[in-house]
Amino acid sequence: MTVVAIDGPAGVGKSTVARRVATRLGVPYLDTGSMYRAVAWKALEEGLDPADGQAMGRLIAGLHFELRPRNDEAEVVVDGAVPGDRLRTPRVDVATSRVAVHPAVRSWLVAQQREFAAREGAVVEGRDIGTVVFPDTPHKFYLEAPLEIRAERRLRQLAGPEGGDRSRLLREMRARDERDIRRRASPLRRDETYELIDTSTGDAEQVADRILRSVRGAATGP
Ligand code: C5P
Repeated sequence: MTVVAIDGPAGVGKSTVARRVATRLGVPYLDTGSMYRAVAWKALEEGLDPADGQAMGRLIAGLHFELRPRNDEAEVVVDGAVPGDRLRTPRVDVATSRVAVHPAVRSWLVAQQREFAAREGAVVEGRDIGTVVFPDTPHKFYLEAPLEIRAERRLRQLAGPEGGDRSRLLREMRARDERDIRRRASPLRRDETYELIDTSTGDAEQVADRILRSVRGAATGP
């Protein structure tokens, strides 16, 4: 069973690349960021403070959370609702990295991520996939690119009234990266077991090709 871990900071192109790799390997794709986003979205909906660990513990205890298969992806369903694009606003971006510091939230989501991938393998993207969720997989990739390039990418993805403010986005992205890198529980980091890929040059297809070559090479052995 193949599990491919793809980690890296915000806006580095993980989703596009991970989706392509999953399609070409014929395994499901799991975006773990959308799971943390769904908890943050629900907290905001209920008027709770995402930084309040106890409130977040109570929130998840009562939450009905489902990863529903949809076109070889996992769609997040929270208390019967599909939040979809509502998870992708700058407000949810900020709240998510606050929610993600709480160990109780993390262990609850990690268990579901492992269960999902145990069925038929998966390409899993996030921040701690190769370090904590699937430390034993031989297929670990860390994507990186300079902050300015990542912010430009994210600006192009954003639409609507909250999008478009470049300097604010840069500021928020930098703060989010720092929270993800500095937190005590499962921080974003890479070690020597990862293959490092710079995504600032080359398109998603080239990055996906490189990952596929590496995964298939490891599978067939020397
Ligand atoms: O990948 P995405 O930008 O959707 O992730 C949103 C946030 O969720 C990240 O900034 C991070 O705080 C959190 N996250 C995490 N661990 C993961 C995936 C996402 O802490 N495996």
